[in-house]
Amino acid sequence: MQISRPLAELDWIQRRRLLALRRLGIETVENLLTHFPRRHEDRTEFPEFPREESDVPICLCGEVIKTSLRRFGGWKKIFEATLQESKPNALSEPLVCRWFNLHYVQKMIATGQRLVVFGKPRLRGKRICMDHPEFEVIENDEEISIHFRRLTPIYPATEGLSQRVLRSIICRILSELSPPGAGLETLLPSELVSGDMDRATAIRAIHFPESWEARDAAREHLVLSEFFAMQTLIASRRTDASIRIGQAHCGSGTLLEKFLESLPFELTGAQRKVIAEIRRALAASHPMNRLLQGDVGSGKTVVAIAAMLLAIEAGYQAAFMAPTQILAEQHYAVLRRWLEPLGVRIALRTGARQEESGPLPLFAAAENQGSARVSRVGDGVAPSRTFLNVQSPDGAFYSRRRVPHFEKPWAIYAVTIGTSSPRWLSPKARTIVLDALRHFHQKHYELFAASVMPDHVHFLIQPWPKKNDYAGNVVFWPLSVLIHSMKSFSAHKINKVEQKSGTLWEKERFDRYVRSDRDLKEKFQYILRNPWDSGVAEQNEDYPWVWTQDDEARNERLFRGEAETSTRDARATRDKMREDKPQIIIGTHALLYENVSFSNLGLVVIDEQHKFGVAQRARLTAREPTPDVLVMTATPIPRTLTMTIYGDLDVSTIDEMPRNRGKIITAVRDESKLGEVLSFLRTQLEARRQLYVIYPLIDESEKLDVKAAAAEYELWRERLRPFRCELLHGRIPAVEKQEIMERFRSGETDALISTTVLEVGVDVPNATVMLIENADHFGLAQLHQLRGRIGRGEHKSYCILLTSNQPKEASAKLAVLERTNNGFEVAEADWELRGPGDLLGTAQSGLPALKIGNLKADAHLMRRARAAAVAIFEADPHLESPENQRFRRLIVEQQGRTFSNVS
Ligand code: ADP
Ligand code: MG
Repeated sequence: MQISRPLAELDWIQRRRLLALRRLGIETVENLLTHFPRRHEDRTEFPEFPREESDVPICLCGEVIKTSLRRFGGWKKIFEATLQESKPNALSEPLVCRWFNLHYVQKMIATGQRLVVFGKPRLRGKRICMDHPEFEVIENDEEISIHFRRLTPIYPATEGLSQRVLRSIICRILSELSPPGAGLETLLPSELVSGDMDRATAIRAIHFPESWEARDAAREHLVLSEFFAMQTLIASRRTDASIRIGQAHCGSGTLLEKFLESLPFELTGAQRKVIAEIRRALAASHPMNRLLQGDVGSGKTVVAIAAMLLAIEAGYQAAFMAPTQILAEQHYAVLRRWLEPLGVRIALRTGARQEESGPLPLFAAAENQGSARVSRVGDGVAPSRTFLNVQSPDGAFYSRRRVPHFEKPWAIYAVTIGTSSPRWLSPKARTIVLDALRHFHQKHYELFAASVMPDHVHFLIQPWPKKNDYAGNVVFWPLSVLIHSMKSFSAHKINKVEQKSGTLWEKERFDRYVRSDRDLKEKFQYILRNPWDSGVAEQNEDYPWVWTQDDEARNERLFRGEAETSTRDARATRDKMREDKPQIIIGTHALLYENVSFSNLGLVVIDEQHKFGVAQRARLTAREPTPDVLVMTATPIPRTLTMTIYGDLDVSTIDEMPRNRGKIITAVRDESKLGEVLSFLRTQLEARRQLYVIYPLIDESEKLDVKAAAAEYELWRERLRPFRCELLHGRIPAVEKQEIMERFRSGETDALISTTVLEVGVDVPNATVMLIENADHFGLAQLHQLRGRIGRGEHKSYCILLTSNQPKEASAKLAVLERTNNGFEVAEADWELRGPGDLLGTAQSGLPALKIGNLKADAHLMRRARAAAVAIFEADPHLESPENQRFRRLIVEQQGRTFSNVS
């Protein structure tokens, strides 16, 4: 049997089990063999039943002598199974296993059975109990050699697949593997292999180890293999980047000198150091890929400006991308203030606002063909397949996949939804559908193109981050949710307007994950041409239910009375614009898709990198000649993570704060102390300082209850009267948000009551007090970010973390912030506290998820793997030497799996 063999070809695995395995992503023999145990149980000999409680979970075996079901509090149920030791003695105590409200357990356990249980014994009254233990029923003694009398593997839980079944399947596969090591090639350099260990041995031993030592040795081997594969991929990315055609993007520095002279402060030593590093990298002819790390408030913006000035002095454009609208606007304001006196031309480009009118088509090709609307019709491109004639009689065009294979950060999907026959979309209904799609554009997703046909809809969509969870990881809107809301929203409205009832939409939908720029472009064109290609619209006819971002921008302009008279005028404007084209373009990540607006891009600065993914970065650098890239992050991360998540970047670190900074004092207070806290806030406001109140609405995306926000605000206005407050939250339109920030900046308002939209980068030096409500609900990194909004001027600053009846862990967590202001220390502590298994946004890194290694516990192995991979690529960048050629597989395979989106 070969390891690539699909499990479906093995006739001894039942179909329903195949399905359960597939749910885990296990389709081949190899997948199964690398489905590693979560832990092992020592079942060589079971200990005697305990007579005391313990904090360490233990594994016991016994016979069920009694079961009972008890009710409490109305509908709640407790199922109890009493176990007796196999060889009881006079002192043996029975063990009571209890499950609360777990209906199915009751069906699985019966008197007379033998059970193996794993859990913590607790003293409850006089009885020794185990609550919700993991358990396994011993059915017959035949299989005892697999499941007992050994170190037994326990796998990650699976619905529809018991431990016993999974274990038996894996055991049989291992025994049938022929030759014993078939296809299990060891892909590790010799210095990482200890003794005569190889992959085949390790795989066997990780499932069914002979001893704990054998298990540990196997695990180390497998972790090293996994880490080495990851670091090989990173090293190859790095090598690829360095051999791309780049250019030197560095001017003489005169402009930079002028800028530095005009600054009201001296650079810190650390700023000077990193500017020098960046300058060297800009001057080099191979592309720069650099991470600028620095705590909040360490002055990264100035460094970014310095880099951009060097690039524009050399005649290039620079792009400055911020993660949010507010930040883009803020950078725009700061840069104009500092750079316009030096004669630098700056432009703002965000989804919501573009400071220069003039269309920004999505793709160069569309621009070359003149106005986008005209180009859709008969422009010589062979008509792509259309929905109508592709649909085969049996409707096979639709696939039943409800969830696409890849829900990935920043993935783009081409989606098609059909109406359920015999319904079709009247012109009015089509407008409603288009409006529904536009409604969440730039809110829950970015919409690139849509066409609404009489019986189906096509659109191209990129789900956006929904929120940060408590740990600060980014969570994206699931495609299924987005599509569902679009469907139900429009169906409801259409049924109302047309006075109909019943289903409007087909349940099925067809979605395609967009894999590359070319793919994107094709889908884009396809969607825009669909009405004409399919004959729904005549060649020279206008079809109003086709939408692009251009159309939206054009509509807005029409609305504002800046109508374009003709395409030729628009062209003329555009050409004129080019002559005095902006040298620095500031924007949100929408910039990524407007490549065309760059004519000579030399440097891209990405602020607050954790909001961007590798794929997005790749999108910018895919062009040749490749621009230099500087990514900045204020979320310091532990070193082990840096070498994985940012492993392909060079790192510059600002490790010093500007000297004029007042101290930040952080204090955790219980809600009951609110009275004292308020009077403290007042003394600060009376001293003319300004205040941020961060209120606890964490999830802003979903149905933010505007009323609740308003109530919160009223409350605070009352509390702080007569000082002037304003309210800030994510639902406020960008322009208004900007005005609110402006009033706060200028001191017109004293206090800003805000959600976490304030999070990154906002800079108002006179705001020195911050109160965070329900602080225990936030992650440490996020709290540190928030706190970074104060302490930006010379005055002493105060951060008050308000909590209510917090558990032990929460107070330990918050105490970290009382103890230190250093972001790196916060990051380390955060990681320490959060425990293993948390991968801190590895999804964003575009790296495969780890199957066995643990970034934290196995940090030392990661260092070894990295050193080995780096050494190999330094000596042999193309993996040409005979002993290295085998490692090419790691890159090819991995890329096939994880990098398709940036190909
Ligand atoms: P961050 O690193 O968090 O992005 P910013 O670049 O926004 O920090 O800088 C924070 C504040 O510090 C800004 O008001 C900036 O003008 C100021 N600043 C930057 N460098 C210095 C310096 N060397 N000395 C004094 N103030 C500085
Ligand atoms: Mg910043």
